[in-house]
Amino acid sequence: MSKTLIQFFGGLKTIGGTIIQLQYGQSRVIFDFGLTFDPRTAIFDGQVKVRNSAIVRDYLKLRMIPKIEGIYNKEHLVSDNVISAEEYEGKTAVLISHLHLDHMGAIGCIDPSIPVYMTEQSRNLYNQLQLIGEGVPGVRSYQSCEYDQSFHIGEIKVTPLSVDHDVIGACAFHLETPDAKIIYTGDFRLHGSSPEVMEEFLQKAKELRYDAVIIEGTTLKSEEELAEHLLVSNNELPDKLLTETKLQINVAQMLKESEGIGIFNIYHRNMERINGMCKAGEEAKRKVVLEIKTAQLAHTFLPQCHFYIFESEELKTMIRENKLLDWQKLLLEKYPLINKEKINENPSRYFVQNSYENIIELFDLHVENGVYIHSNGVPLGDYDPAFHNLEKILSLLSLERVEVSSGGHALPQHLKYIVDELDPKVLIPLHSFYPERLKPKNGQQLLPAYGEVYEIGDIVNK
Ligand SMILES: [Zn+2]
Ligand SMILES: [Zn+2]
Repeated sequence: MSKTLIQFFGGLKTIGGTIIQLQYGQSRVIFDFGLTFDPRTAIFDGQVKVRNSAIVRDYLKLRMIPKIEGIYNKEHLVSDNVISAEEYEGKTAVLISHLHLDHMGAIGCIDPSIPVYMTEQSRNLYNQLQLIGEGVPGVRSYQSCEYDQSFHIGEIKVTPLSVDHDVIGACAFHLETPDAKIIYTGDFRLHGSSPEVMEEFLQKAKELRYDAVIIEGTTLKSEEELAEHLLVSNNELPDKLLTETKLQINVAQMLKESEGIGIFNIYHRNMERINGMCKAGEEAKRKVVLEIKTAQLAHTFLPQCHFYIFESEELKTMIRENKLLDWQKLLLEKYPLINKEKINENPSRYFVQNSYENIIELFDLHVENGVYIHSNGVPLGDYDPAFHNLEKILSLLSLERVEVSSGGHALPQHLKYIVDELDPKVLIPLHSFYPERLKPKNGQQLLPAYGEVYEIGDIVNK
């Protein structure tokens, strides 16, 4: 008789890059297929080019993706010791919990014969990202699944459950084989604008039952850094914590108090944040101006938002030379374009998005007495060499940077709350620098080793 086997290939002690294989007989699911990214050590630092037609062998060589049998195309493999997708006999699918690069950055490496599932909302977002030039390298199509709708990969039953994270379409997976039940939480938080989603998740997970829970632990800190009380289960939101809702109120207040232009830098896969910035601008009676790529996302997912499109130098040239892409033409028919001269007539009436890659555009704007709102946009912090550049440029402009951020990950006490509520027989914390700190209420903690094969039944009955 077959047994349920689980193997870990990535993301155990890193933030992201989680790759786990769950196998039962000839059926197998691999969940999440992202890349761990560290700007200090990344080979692809923006200078070295990615070779789109050779990503599988390049990423394997750089150890950015694991040597898993039966998922890569034969032609793309150079080494003989990895079985290709063509040669593999079992049934495989890849499951993606959400569209952050640390969970999906390498999905383009998977052979097109293997389905890669993501929620319908995630797939809609992916299609839009691809349209604006932010798809991942590799050409293939993606399959969609619905929240709460189970589907089968051979003998494994998969049920996506909605969780709250700072990107739309995020889900956890409930996985059921003939002899084991597992929950993989993906990334989540309790302080988003839909806290009820996590309570519903707990409810549904309990109904479906489980032996083991694999959970993220991004916010866990070392023993020295973390006050003990923060690892006591508590689902309350601390007063000081900026929720998406509070963040919007803070930004609106800052804009009302500022006598100059408002600039903001966000990560535009976070629709709640785009929405919050639009609302904050509106509240402060300022016109919100978005970069054209972000405008396309807002147009698709936030039809209630009002905004203008920023005429960057690049966009101006494209218009002049008649080189606009179809999606850009359609967008410009619907939303007004605004140029820098117009903004400069009265900067205090505007709230303008500026991504780091476009920071030089700020040289053309009158930014005196203005405010630069850094709200989870890249570069995220001073561990990234680009952060010093950001600071250098802002200081050249004498523009004050204000940090107004809210993360996508549950606080330590919230992680413990979820763990205690679920109270599984086996808890497997990962996606964390300190996974060992997250302890189960009654069950046992498993801190797996890379490559080792674990039998779920064995661990549960130990
Ligand atoms: Zn992550
Ligand atoms: Zn994430």
